[in-house]
Amino acid sequence: MATYPKRDDLRELSGYHSPQVSVKVRLNTNESPIAPPAEFVEAVTTAVSDVQWNRYPDRTATALREDIAALHNVSADNVFVANGSNEVLQTLLLAYSGAGRKVVTFEPTYQLHSHIARISGATVVSGNRNADFTLDAAEVRRVCTQHQPSVTFLCSPNNPTGLVESPEVVQAAIESTPGIVLVDEAYAQFSPHSALSLVREDACIAVSRTYSKTWSMAAARLGYLIAPKWMIADLESVALPYRVDALKQAAGRAALRHVAQMEAAVREVVAQRERLVAAMLKLPLTVWPSQANFILFRPAGAGVGARSGTGKEVGAGRALWQALLDQSVLVRDCSSWDGLTDCLRVTVGTAEENDAFLTALQTALQARD
Ligand code: PMP
Repeated sequence: MATYPKRDDLRELSGYHSPQVSVKVRLNTNESPIAPPAEFVEAVTTAVSDVQWNRYPDRTATALREDIAALHNVSADNVFVANGSNEVLQTLLLAYSGAGRKVVTFEPTYQLHSHIARISGATVVSGNRNADFTLDAAEVRRVCTQHQPSVTFLCSPNNPTGLVESPEVVQAAIESTPGIVLVDEAYAQFSPHSALSLVREDACIAVSRTYSKTWSMAAARLGYLIAPKWMIADLESVALPYRVDALKQAAGRAALRHVAQMEAAVREVVAQRERLVAAMLKLPLTVWPSQANFILFRPAGAGVGARSGTGKEVGAGRALWQALLDQSVLVRDCSSWDGLTDCLRVTVGTAEENDAFLTALQTALQARD
């Protein structure tokens, strides 16, 4: 069988991994546990019959962009839409990073930021978070001033650690880099802060959002960017034409007619998050505070320093992940990620799912003692 090597600079790069295992309780990918309202599903069903399937969709997705713009009180020229916010990020990196340019991240953070940046050919530089995963404005200034990146990623709330980046951190990035500051706000609706008000024509800042979490539409793959008009034009110049299909454009507009229900679902998730955190704090775990729809945690006493030895032994975090999976509860195993030794991340589910998770967690931790 003939094969052909991929690009030299990508030889070592493996794909993005998040196991899709068939389990009773799936709490590993930060989706909304709540289905969208029935009226939304009806509107999408009607939209299916209205689609002119033999024709390309509106290439500029104007109506959808106008609706998103109205939601955020900006102009449609400040909105770029794509297939999930991942594609938004990829397009931004296509336009502004690439060989000979640098991209800054502050690890641990969303893995796809550095992953897509590397694929674009850029050199990735990582700044440091504090031991409690907060980020200092001084560190942002240091890294940005030293490396003069084309793109600096902030993630707020940060996945997988859960906290928002402070306004000082965002401001420090804007002031100390000549390039673009991208604030990934995939989880912003679960938190009290947003960088959206910082977007203006004469600043190199952009904010990405997704329909996958708050809008209960992970299946649809729809995300967007709010940014200065010149930046949106740059992204359009490198993006694929007709990328957002007609059905998705209709679904995206239909969702925006049900903002109140979506906000109620967010409040429910936040209430469940607080309940979960309170219950988890009573167990032998380290639990990090969260302003998102997921919680990072680690078995007590684990994760101190790097693991030594043959590297083949199973750490406490991985063992706990497996013990949960054995009870048909799937969470995200972050235990091998840099800076996250023995850490796991659980997505906030429905009350029933959270109960099942807590019961499985208790059982697993007792079996360990
Ligand atoms: N940004 C962050 C921080 C995320 O956690 C995710 C989803 N895991 C995304 C972006 C991608 O979301 P989407 O489904 O819109 O591609």
